[in-house]
Amino acid sequence: MERKLVPPFIPNGYNPGGVTIKSSHELELMREAGRVVATTLQTLAESARAGMKTKELDIIASNQIKRLGAKPSFKGYRGFPATICVSVNNEIVHGIPGDRVLRDGDIVSLDAGAIVGGFQADSALTIGIGKLSAQCQELISTTKQALETGIAAARVGARVGDLSSAIQDFVERRGYSVVREYVGHGIGRELHEDPQIPNYGLPNRGPLLRRGMTIAIEPMVNIGGWRTRCLEDNWTVVTADGSLSAHFEDTIAITDDGAEILTRL
Ligand code: MG
Ligand code: MG
Repeated sequence: MERKLVPPFIPNGYNPGGVTIKSSHELELMREAGRVVATTLQTLAESARAGMKTKELDIIASNQIKRLGAKPSFKGYRGFPATICVSVNNEIVHGIPGDRVLRDGDIVSLDAGAIVGGFQADSALTIGIGKLSAQCQELISTTKQALETGIAAARVGARVGDLSSAIQDFVERRGYSVVREYVGHGIGRELHEDPQIPNYGLPNRGPLLRRGMTIAIEPMVNIGGWRTRCLEDNWTVVTADGSLSAHFEDTIAITDDGAEILTRL
């Protein structure tokens, strides 16, 4: 009997559309969507500074995505009210941009999605405002490396659990925890498709990765425990223990040569 490893946690907004294999034309649309997302995140990273309200970042993202001829993935998705998610310090994901003012020493996770020709790309990164503590710098670099570790494990014939366990091992070896209630996902016409891509698990378990699958890998790493809580706005997810959290995400395509990262310039 298969050990039931993963509790039936469903990430906010998860809408399984089945595993889909993309044609070369569909991959080309996703590459274009990926370029839009990467360009937008780069602009945001260059623009964010102390004294700025998080909603100013949302306006920059909205203008840029429009200017590049794409549509934002998140605005209106299950009622999400903004173009991007901005999650500060102990906020993990799904922070709603608003009047919060960024301060020196904050860590800020920026998550953006774009649609080109009906196909989506989704990416996130965590940046620092001004001078960061060594603790924050290490959290950010560990989370970024956790994403790289997951991407390196994503190849034809691997199972989702190979990638999940690689990320979990990497993170926990460094004394951090990975969030469990929210996971990566397949992506294509839908923002969230099958399979789910947890950041924890066991090798050699879960769905097989096949050529032409496109997935978003997105480790969320906490300094403290892995448990989460959702704020009264029904979106913002925070660490249950108030510890700091970082988030990196890329959309990749599974190819015969390994992972093709669609959300980098
Ligand atoms: Mg995202
Ligand atoms: Mg995602």
